[in-house]
Amino acid sequence: MQMIIDGKNTDAIGGQSLQVLSPNDGKAFETIPRGRKADVDLAVKAARQALSGAWGELTALERGRLMIQLGQKILENHEELAQLESRDTGKPISTSRADISALARYFEFYGGGADKVHGQTIPFLNDYAVQLVREPLGVTAHIIPWNYPAQMFGRSAAPALAMGNAIVVKPAEDACLSVLRAAELAQEIGFPPGAINIVTGLGHEAGAALSQHPDINFISFTGSNEVGVLIQQAAAVNAVKCTLELGGKSAHIVFEDANVERAIPAIVKGVVYNTGQTCTAGSRLLVQRSIFDDFMVRLAEEFSKTRAGTPDMDLTCGPVVNKDQFDRVNHYVDQGRKDGLKIVAQGTIADGVPAGGYFVTPTLFSAPDHSSCLLSDEIFGPVLVAVPFDTEAEAVALSNATSYGLMGAVWTENGGRQQRVAKGMQAGQVYINSFGAGGGIELPFGGVKRSGHGREKGFIALEEMSTTKTIINFHGE
Ligand code: ADP
Repeated sequence: MQMIIDGKNTDAIGGQSLQVLSPNDGKAFETIPRGRKADVDLAVKAARQALSGAWGELTALERGRLMIQLGQKILENHEELAQLESRDTGKPISTSRADISALARYFEFYGGGADKVHGQTIPFLNDYAVQLVREPLGVTAHIIPWNYPAQMFGRSAAPALAMGNAIVVKPAEDACLSVLRAAELAQEIGFPPGAINIVTGLGHEAGAALSQHPDINFISFTGSNEVGVLIQQAAAVNAVKCTLELGGKSAHIVFEDANVERAIPAIVKGVVYNTGQTCTAGSRLLVQRSIFDDFMVRLAEEFSKTRAGTPDMDLTCGPVVNKDQFDRVNHYVDQGRKDGLKIVAQGTIADGVPAGGYFVTPTLFSAPDHSSCLLSDEIFGPVLVAVPFDTEAEAVALSNATSYGLMGAVWTENGGRQQRVAKGMQAGQVYINSFGAGGGIELPFGGVKRSGHGREKGFIALEEMSTTKTIINFHGE
């Protein structure tokens, strides 16, 4: 597949390409261009020109309408995109179908929002009229990860486009095909050239060149902590704003009065969905000691039903994305054993998965306390560790005993406790008696602490991806 720069499908200037490996069998099945600085330069230039050209001239209504059309076009090509996503990431086909529906919804949601962000007038001195108008930031850079390529593209690109920015996207080298195809569809329905540019390539080449580019005005980054630091440094050099979403180590807190029937499937899904490769995975489980043993028996029963298989088997989860992830997850399972954690249940890998695929076994541990590195490190795999607690205060303290702060959940029927715990948890989103809620495009999302800063999703993203201008008009004699 090719990159999209200035409305055209294009190879890398250097002529090099990268192989795309299937997580299902580890074999190459596609190539993508290995874009570098020169390609990024062209993309940023095209975006800059689009802002002063056809894209910049569109009204908010026209931009929004194009975006809604793109959402519809994505739905028309839904199955093709879902198959591509599964091939690229190894996701069960039903997961990919849900992801492509979400991609379409991002364009519909933010397309509908494009003409609904209003400015303000501000009371000031006599003889002055003051307007606060919202304007695009300019050229926005979007560096996105491989775990949800289509969804991340929608989440990051759609609010930026809605506000009239021209975008340059660097999707992850491990999985970017659905992004390229969606951008192709955007060209087909008439997005002006340069409004949407996609540069594929390696992180330290194309990604670094984009984040360091002197002519970008904003960076939206989702990925690892290590790279997040580099992005923020690059943003500092050019004095541009960035949003960082850097993962999490989210905790469930289950009290003795919890609705166990409701909690258990949500907890299992919360860590196994997408093979645990989700920033918001609920990878820590804090359970009140009075119910701990009974709860773990019932949780083990549900957890052991999880099965990993190929996309067409459409089981609980697929393989992890690549060999590094495969080694990483297996390393943590071994480490858990070495740390003396008890394996309470494991899922299975389906018979008949191809040799060479990156399938890992979903694993549920219990730990006597919160000291293991499995409770502090983001594993990014289907590994859950349960720890008992005694009091509400202890539960909140344990949930916050992590450098991350992305999401959390509290399970209790006690209304006062729901509110106290939700307020006490250091996280960008807290669920009460539920978890994840299917992605929640409408719901502001992002982290505190080392999970990053800035908010995506919801209407708040339109504010993040725009700026204000204050116009002060003296109209006295
Ligand atoms: P992960 O560990 O989940 O692969 P990364 O943070 O490495 O997450 O990657 C997320 C995105 O950041 C990918 O698109 C990747 O290519 C990009 N990336 C990696 N290294 C850099 C870098 N040095 N500068 C800019 N982008 C990078």
